Amino acid sequence: MNNVNLPHLSRRRFIATAGLGGTVAFAPRLLFAQEKGIVPTMIDDAAQAKIETHPLRRGISVLEGSGGNIGVLTGKDGKLLIDSGFAVSKARIVEALNALSADPVTQLINTHWHVDHTDGNAWVHSAGATITAHENTKKHLSTSTRVEGWQYTFPPSPAGALPTTIFDDEQHVHHNDTSIGLKYYGPAHTDSDISVVFEEADVIHVGDTLWNGIYPFIDYSTGGSIDGMIRATERNLSVITEKTIVIPGHGPVGNKAALSEFRDMLSTIRSNVAALKKQGKSLSETIAARPTAAYDAKWGQFLITPAFFVALVYSGV
Ligand SMILES: [Zn+2]
Repeated sequence: MNNVNLPHLSRRRFIATAGLGGTVAFAPRLLFAQEKGIVPTMIDDAAQAKIETHPLRRGISVLEGSGGNIGVLTGKDGKLLIDSGFAVSKARIVEALNALSADPVTQLINTHWHVDHTDGNAWVHSAGATITAHENTKKHLSTSTRVEGWQYTFPPSPAGALPTTIFDDEQHVHHNDTSIGLKYYGPAHTDSDISVVFEEADVIHVGDTLWNGIYPFIDYSTGGSIDGMIRATERNLSVITEKTIVIPGHGPVGNKAALSEFRDMLSTIRSNVAALKKQGKSLSETIAARPTAAYDAKWGQFLITPAFFVALVYSGV
């Protein structure tokens, strides 16, 4: 389960930006100044990517290849999806869903408001699904929302893409003979993140509070922070066992060991960056000091480059 190949996004574009950090006193936008931008890149990559299906247990699978990992629970009440990926992947997602079973999609849960997890909401809703999410997911999707770290302003989503059921702390869903617990993290990767626990199967979808084996994006524009990410990871560790299957927002399906490694990476880099900032170092000096060096070979090979991750941590310490 840990051997799933990492995807789909064009790594070269992001790696090419990493060298800017030591020489330019930049805001995160400069990381993308000569690129087409992170959001259009994600959409273009989703438009080309294959959808890979990973069956887990008790009717639960993961579809990988359209933005965030999509969880699927099949059964007589219809399919329940966790996150809806990018709309450009609709045809391939439908094909992957049909290969799992003939049940229609009747429920969708959003782990948070980001476009790579909610862009497919409108078509999934038209296909007959209700949409459940934290109240802040509905809030951000309902209005024009700027994400500075992506240098992108999202227009309000169409009415059909908005959550139809919202909650502020926790919610329980019974579907396909499965008890499903939804729980708000508090501010973490954004201010809208929830975990989704399939009780009997002992499977948890933790949304973008875990990027398994890759540096995470943190959205300070809508309430995320490095400390919130660490708190959410501690909570994830406290509610699972060695047997729990952990579905991350990005990266391969993981487990408790993967979460522990992620927590250690986040807290070590947080202390390294905080120490440099306390010495009075600017962001570009902090990047030049390479506080992530011990982790870059493993964690820096994807969407968020080492320099960009340092910038995200620096903003929060
Ligand atoms: Zn996200």
